[in-house]
Amino acid sequence: MFELVSAAPADPILGLTEAFKEDTRTQKINLGVGIYKNEDGQTPVLNVVKKAEAKLLESESSKSYLSIEGNAQYGLAVQKLLFGADSDIVSSGRALTAQSPGGTGALHNAAEFAVNHLGIKTIWVSNPTWANHGNVFKAMGLEVKQYEYYNANTKSLDYPAMLSSLEQVAKGDLVLLHGCCHNPTGIDPDAAQWKELANISADKGWLPLFDFAYQGFATGIEEDALGLREFAKNHSELMIASSFSKNFGLYNERVGAFTLVAKTPEVAKQAFSQVKAGIRANYSNPPSHGAAVVSIILNDEALTQEWHQEVADMRVRIKEMRDLFVKTLKDEGAKGDYSFIQGQNGMFSFSGLSKEQVASLKSDFAVYIVGSGRISVAGMTKNNMLALCQAIVAVEN
Ligand code: PMP
Repeated sequence: MFELVSAAPADPILGLTEAFKEDTRTQKINLGVGIYKNEDGQTPVLNVVKKAEAKLLESESSKSYLSIEGNAQYGLAVQKLLFGADSDIVSSGRALTAQSPGGTGALHNAAEFAVNHLGIKTIWVSNPTWANHGNVFKAMGLEVKQYEYYNANTKSLDYPAMLSSLEQVAKGDLVLLHGCCHNPTGIDPDAAQWKELANISADKGWLPLFDFAYQGFATGIEEDALGLREFAKNHSELMIASSFSKNFGLYNERVGAFTLVAKTPEVAKQAFSQVKAGIRANYSNPPSHGAAVVSIILNDEALTQEWHQEVADMRVRIKEMRDLFVKTLKDEGAKGDYSFIQGQNGMFSFSGLSKEQVASLKSDFAVYIVGSGRISVAGMTKNNMLALCQAIVAVEN
């Protein structure tokens, strides 16, 4: 039977990494996948992670299974990151968290619960959004609809279009929001817009699902939760998919969390029992190591401080690269005005480069960028900047 199966198309982002690896040109630049690179072009293990791993090596006494929902201390620490250490959502027990295999696993947990236990049929995602969102939600049988988000002419949030397209959301539909550092545009709502969106959502009865994969990459760990915390103020029910791949650099350890907030602790427990039943049937219980590392860090004040500093270092380096990129393009005589890139948040930037320009950058200059023109700014360094900008200027003509 297997020969009747047609080949799946390569994943647009991970497929690009494969092509990059196979490229034998010595001067090559990968700005495709969203992985943080330091000034040397490396993705090192964070120092604080190394310290926590040393502690774990000392203290770990068993490799026995975790519970279905995973490490409880980790779950509590995740909730404090999301809602704030003093939040009554955390102390009241209205929130329950399952340790999940990456943010992707958490999105899957959310979709499965919504489809199988809430009878939800539709999810609204921004246009554009992370390429894998559609895969995850469609695999669970959800119909994926888009709300407007990006204005390609002004290279900014099209807030009026966003609001008017969101008017079509029916009561009880899922609405996916990027907690911060919107992927792929790097453009987030401002504080007033978040507040208004939260009010509209509460009025209309949307079920918000926050995808929170870049906490700490926009302004700071606490500051970046502003949008979510606005929603948490006036929603009795919401869901969050956290990823710690980027902000702890734990990409291959698959560390994420699915958090459900209900009206009361009792309702939370009842609903969460079905989340657990879904996990049991899927991967039974989560892998331990990465979440244990995050838990050690977040439950130790000094290590938490160190982590904040390391996240700040990554954030600042990316911001510096944004500035240098815009300056170098200008110095090299770029026709376009790229200054909008300086105002964007997180790892990504929507460059405005066309599909043809992206193709030429790859074939003629060994510069790898996703077809949509999304650039991972985190892949830029002082060393590759000149070559990169000269290539872009060349394909502009
Ligand atoms: N959501 C968004 C917006 C992302 O960019 C990513 C990672 N690229 C994820 C979720 C998934 O993260 P993870 O690798 O932890 O599954």
